[in-house]
Amino acid sequence: MENNQYKILREMAVDATKNAYMPYSKCAVGSAILTNTGEYFSGCNIENASYGGSVCAERVAIWKAISVNKNIKIKIIYVYTEAGWPPCGMCRQVMAEFADEDLQVVIGNSSGEVDKISFKELLPHQFDHSQLTKISHPS
Ligand code: ZN
Repeated sequence: MENNQYKILREMAVDATKNAYMPYSKCAVGSAILTNTGEYFSGCNIENASYGGSVCAERVAIWKAISVNKNIKIKIIYVYTEAGWPPCGMCRQVMAEFADEDLQVVIGNSSGEVDKISFKELLPHQFDHSQLTKISHPS
């Protein structure tokens, strides 16, 4: 069961690289997520001539899911690049917003090797909504 989920996520992430829009970096990235509702979503990197307007594959997959159901949580996120790059800091922050308690991050490369890391290990001491309850706003 669990292995099948990883297989599906890898296939979706690899497939998503076919639509990667990466004229500047020339690096295709694909990502796929499994949500707590049992749904799968994928995304690819989409670059922009402004560079700052570019978005990573992980965030595209997450935003596709959230745009369908803002209450979902991510159970597993698979990130695929030829070399097996880990998610950038910006994506880790976005993952923190929608992470299930035991979110697993899977990093895949072209030879199929994967690294499975718990999100808590990937982003310890995360900044999330719980931090915002620790301040008092002047009225
Ligand atoms: Zn990123």
